[in-house]
Amino acid sequence: MLTDIEIAQNAKMKDINKIAASLGISSDEIDPYGHYKAKISDSVMERLKDKKDGKLILVTAVNPTPAGEGKTTVSIGLGEAMSQIGKKAIIALREPSLGPVFGIKGGAAGGGYSQVVPMEDINLHFTGDMHAITSANNLMCAMLDNSIQQGNELNIDPRRIQVKRCLDMNDRALRNIINSLGGKLNGIPREDHFCITVASEVMAILCLASDLFDLRERLGNILVAYTFDGQPVYCKDIKANGAMTVLLKEAIKPNLVQTLENTPAIMHGGPFANIAHGCNSVRATKTALKLADYTITEAGFGSDLGAEKFMDIKCRFAGLAPSCVVLVSTVRSMKYNGGVAKEDLKEENLEALKKGSVNLGAHIDNLKKFGVPVVVAINHFYADTQAEIDYIEQYCKEKGADFAVTKCFAEGGKGGTQLAQKVVDACEKENNFHCLYDLDMPVYEKIETIAKEIYGADGVDFTKEARNAIDGFIKLGADKMPVCMAKTQYSLSDNPKLLGKPENFRITVSSASLSNGAGFIVCQTGSIMTMPGLSKSPAAYRIDIDENGNTVGLF
Ligand code: ADP
Ligand code: MG
Repeated sequence: MLTDIEIAQNAKMKDINKIAASLGISSDEIDPYGHYKAKISDSVMERLKDKKDGKLILVTAVNPTPAGEGKTTVSIGLGEAMSQIGKKAIIALREPSLGPVFGIKGGAAGGGYSQVVPMEDINLHFTGDMHAITSANNLMCAMLDNSIQQGNELNIDPRRIQVKRCLDMNDRALRNIINSLGGKLNGIPREDHFCITVASEVMAILCLASDLFDLRERLGNILVAYTFDGQPVYCKDIKANGAMTVLLKEAIKPNLVQTLENTPAIMHGGPFANIAHGCNSVRATKTALKLADYTITEAGFGSDLGAEKFMDIKCRFAGLAPSCVVLVSTVRSMKYNGGVAKEDLKEENLEALKKGSVNLGAHIDNLKKFGVPVVVAINHFYADTQAEIDYIEQYCKEKGADFAVTKCFAEGGKGGTQLAQKVVDACEKENNFHCLYDLDMPVYEKIETIAKEIYGADGVDFTKEARNAIDGFIKLGADKMPVCMAKTQYSLSDNPKLLGKPENFRITVSSASLSNGAGFIVCQTGSIMTMPGLSKSPAAYRIDIDENGNTVGLF
């Protein structure tokens, strides 16, 4: 089989005007970036505001192996398969961050014959959204330090700055730094930090904002620092939010691209799935719902993180309701959950598969708690044996769950038509979608509810630091906000080593922060890295241009 980049480079892409036309969008309603990418103008939403929304399908997964289980690949394949069975479908995904592209090998634009294209552009600078977000965030930081330098009228305590500078790069050297060295003209030295752009609150805000004005308001509400007497200082106090909004004026518009089979796809925004909510922008999803009968979207990590936050944060804020959830599972992840080492996942192992399948069961049960129909997508890998596939099918039957084996990676849309049909059927089933908890619930109870209901924990412990932080946020008026849990993606618990379906455990919230503009309280369990580093052999070693000037080595 060809590599992902070879398949992508052989794609027969259609001009983006044609893709737009297939959605009923005229050429003057898009801003093309070259021939195969475009920003969708605000006028489209304005024109379609009274049109009935299509069905929303969320793609999530079980607890994965370190290689990922194929949510993006299945999302893209499912969109293509929907087109193949004659349905009008669109895919809405996050846009990739540059950092991981050069870090670990593994695309964010799907894989095999289920990819979005132009894959290189999408994975690299795309339409410049990441750079705009980086600039907006760093303008805020520059204005904050300038406010301190110019007499510190706001009485900002430089030891209690709450925001970090950002860069779309894996660069551990910038995690902890001292800035403003060099004397009086160069500012007041202080400890500073960088995060990767997708971990910035500006990214989370861009993805939750309903329009440009809501964006400006939310940016203004970012908690940037505290004063020497412990009072909050917001972004609007340093007068940065207007100029930041100007920098994000184009970035807030959804990006239109296509799959290898010319199914339309919107890729827009990409917040972290741990310290943020982990799904593409609200504007992208809402636009997609107006343009097609079926919108397929993905939330980061497993259902314990991505799906829970999709429902409790994104859907709640945006007034969205999924018609069906697709739960991606693989033979290898069930074996991994059953204790098989990463290197041995290619060997048939029915014992381990049996042991690990409780993880699939736990995710099915969790999703049912939101009142939406669930379809299990068994993402087929080359090394899977028939006996293993049979076992998972049998397991789903016993659980009373709908399922379909999908071969989208190897076959594109053709490999996902069975799944597509199951999803179409599920969308017509009874649906009692509801969030897991009420916003009126006390903050500590919200956290406890997620831990008990979704993780299967007996309860939650808080460090003194976390409790102080949360109590402080409640005083600032954040008690009616949802909580955004940051946790390992490898386990239902907060310990990455507890695989399968852990029982008799408690989780520990070690620290908390307030994303006041985005509108949620972030609770961290364990240590969550917001600025990744590069590995000993980063993918960048293998990325190059060949003698014809073509990119090679990008996945
Ligand atoms: P996720 O969105 O869950 O992180 P991806 O769809 O990005 O997962 O897939 C993770 C990696 O696994 C990618 O490199 C993708 O190409 C690969 N992959 C996904 N499905 C398959 C499959 N069925 N066979 C082989 N490789 C696959
Ligand atoms: Mg993905």
